[in-house]
Amino acid sequence: MPKQIKQDNQTAAKAEPLTIKDLEKQLFAQRQNICKEMTVSELALADEFCEEYKAFLDAGKTERTAARRIIEKAKAAGFKEFKAGKKYKSGDKLYVNNREKAVILAVIGYEPLDAAGVRIIASHIDSPRIDLKANALFEDNELAYFKTHYYGGIKKYQWAAIPLSLQGVVCKADGSTVQINIGEDESDPVFTITDLLPHLAEAQYKRPAKELIKGEELNVLIGSRPFKSGKEVGLCPTTRSEPSGERSLGAEHGSVKLAIMKLLHDKYGITESDFTTAELELVPAFKARDVGFDRSLVGAYGQDDRVCAYTSLTAMLDLDGVPAATAVCVFADKEEVGSYGNTGLGSNYLEYFLEDLADAQGVNVRRIFEKSKCLSADVCAALDPTFADVSEKNNSAFMNRGAVIQKYVGSRGKSGTNDASAEYLAELRGVLDGAGVPWQTGELGKVDAGGGGTVAMFVARMNIDTVDIGVPVLSMHAPMELTAKADVYAAYRGFGAFWRA
Ligand code: MN
Ligand code: MN
Repeated sequence: MPKQIKQDNQTAAKAEPLTIKDLEKQLFAQRQNICKEMTVSELALADEFCEEYKAFLDAGKTERTAARRIIEKAKAAGFKEFKAGKKYKSGDKLYVNNREKAVILAVIGYEPLDAAGVRIIASHIDSPRIDLKANALFEDNELAYFKTHYYGGIKKYQWAAIPLSLQGVVCKADGSTVQINIGEDESDPVFTITDLLPHLAEAQYKRPAKELIKGEELNVLIGSRPFKSGKEVGLCPTTRSEPSGERSLGAEHGSVKLAIMKLLHDKYGITESDFTTAELELVPAFKARDVGFDRSLVGAYGQDDRVCAYTSLTAMLDLDGVPAATAVCVFADKEEVGSYGNTGLGSNYLEYFLEDLADAQGVNVRRIFEKSKCLSADVCAALDPTFADVSEKNNSAFMNRGAVIQKYVGSRGKSGTNDASAEYLAELRGVLDGAGVPWQTGELGKVDAGGGGTVAMFVARMNIDTVDIGVPVLSMHAPMELTAKADVYAAYRGFGAFWRA
């Protein structure tokens, strides 16, 4: 924060004359690499913090696995499942599991809800990926594939020719659910989308980049050996059509599709029609890694927005004592597709949770909303020197300059966004500066260069002060996204300061 210039003439006369440099330091906003200011031990803390962060990214690459991990960690820290109608006292730690895909954590504060409102940090735990279609399995020229429909904004060509893991659930006709996770363990097979060899890509090169790989070309290779049987093939007893499990197919040869379906049936007891009642997602199979000779960056899939999920989760679990205002941490699903659906923040589950809390204290929930504050915790594009022309450098976020506050996102003249008030921004600035948390401002690219959205507007519509803050990211929405460890740590500290304020 710039110190006020002394206006008193007498005081000024006694002091050393100000140099231009001093004056610039006082009057100009300071924008610089925070690693210069951080001590060796502070940098080491940031590095150490990111070790557990990388493990979290590897364990939670889908909204379901991330939700599970968050609940596990919360339970281990003493959080109990929230029950509507129950009275809660200050210090109580609660969690809400919304359909295994979204989570709310809360620590009840010592101030009454209608006096202090709540302090919400809302991130999202879904990331762009490749989903299976309902009729996924097919064979073409003796190769077996899955048909897919991508989820969220991806550059489709980035998803070909990389190893993918398959994760999700299959809900079977008998009412049971099978959990699938293939490709994360080193001994597992992986899957991949094929791309055309450059030798034959003359026509492909002429396509617009958006169609370099078309949506219907995102076919995932899953097998290549035809079914072969010289001996009895016992079908699992779970198959209603073949309950005996004893019928012999003799020495017949079947298709690759049959061989794959047989494997899946043997391992998971599923048949082809079970794909219609499944949610299976393909995500990059590689693990989070340090990037750079100096190991200053984390390279991993799904950091948008699990970087904010992890930093807010950890800040909440690390809260010492009881906060004044009730602290609420939301991990939403469906942000990447517009927050639609009942696990996205376009749904009312956060509102209903706050209503339930209000009812338990016998207060009108509107009194809570109007006093509440929210950080919409999401990533921001960092300036990429290779593609600097899409950014306006005075207002772009930069790697290693701390947590990024975005007053607004949206597109075409701030359309479709929450535009945080100056008053609320000032309050947040005070909180971050007071705690010595490095921060910067960011804007998603040049005016009219494109745009994007976050969950901010869905919280703001409840009449809650909301602003976007997060971590700068390079290669956003790519299979490997990059964050700077110093920024990740700054976000963690910023989120803690928000709840302690
Ligand atoms: Mn995001
Ligand atoms: Mn995103």
